[in-house]
Amino acid sequence: MSEESMDETTDAVNPLDHMSRTVELGGGFPVRHISPSQLNTMSTCGMVWYFSYVEGWKVPPGFAAHQGSGVHAGAEMNFSQKVESRVDVRASDIVDASVAGYDERLERDGVSAMEDSGRSVKDQEGSYRDSTAQAAAVFASDIAPKIQPVMVEKTIEAPLTGVGVEGLVILGTVDVISEFDLHTPEDERRLIRDLKTSGRYWSQHDVDTMLQLGFYEVLYRALHGKPSEGGVIDLVNVIRKKTKVNIAAKEFTTVLDDAACSQTLWRLRNMVNAIKAGVFVPADPGHWKCTPKWCGYYDKCPAVRNRYRAIIDMGGK
Ligand code: SF4
Repeated sequence: MSEESMDETTDAVNPLDHMSRTVELGGGFPVRHISPSQLNTMSTCGMVWYFSYVEGWKVPPGFAAHQGSGVHAGAEMNFSQKVESRVDVRASDIVDASVAGYDERLERDGVSAMEDSGRSVKDQEGSYRDSTAQAAAVFASDIAPKIQPVMVEKTIEAPLTGVGVEGLVILGTVDVISEFDLHTPEDERRLIRDLKTSGRYWSQHDVDTMLQLGFYEVLYRALHGKPSEGGVIDLVNVIRKKTKVNIAAKEFTTVLDDAACSQTLWRLRNMVNAIKAGVFVPADPGHWKCTPKWCGYYDKCPAVRNRYRAIIDMGGK
């Protein structure tokens, strides 16, 4: 294609014209806080962070995310009362709260979904509601009894100093901080826990390298002035195979030491410097998330092959 015809195409149909402006850093940094999910997003794809936090484009979650939020709602209801009672509520109550959570988030946030393997969006909605109930039942029987929470949904904030952005904080909400050992309640050792509902199998390596738990450890130390005893991922695996759904629980523990904290802080500093410079490194185009199915920004993104020639000007950088 000649340069002239490329320019014509761009002028006529390029949907990215609105991006031809500078990243608004005047008067401050684009965000007031950085959360674990932001750090995670930036590490996977800087362009997703840019679209979300600079442009403010929000993409509704998919059904799988609503399923996770539903199970999370049931777990939160149970653990909030268990801090004092030290007893789980009935499994059926956890299931009901989880399904209600799924419906509530679906109603509130909408859903990103398309027909999948011949199944309509309506069918998928019903199927994920059912699997939310099944996953919540597995949580109630296999995970909840092993945990004595001390704090639930604890939001912790700490200043992020030394990065040249005044007032910037790191902030995260830890699902559960639990007793280290159910049989020694007077013991002051604590574990940082996160509940995941996932459609794929996890390995120990996944947990040992995840940024989220290291981030929580930094926040935990800021709050308590001492380290935790480690991190735990309480996983509910929801594996879909055609019309069948297999659900199982698994627990992974990992060390959260000084190295986990320094990794987190180094990456936070790096992220802040990148944002200040207007550098948003896109995901590798071969990454599974960098596809129309998994990335809600795919149609708008200049970092992938699209039928539009993308021109992006972020502050002349
Ligand atoms: S299409 Fe790929 S590079 Fe672009 S925002 Fe999505 S994941 Fe990132």
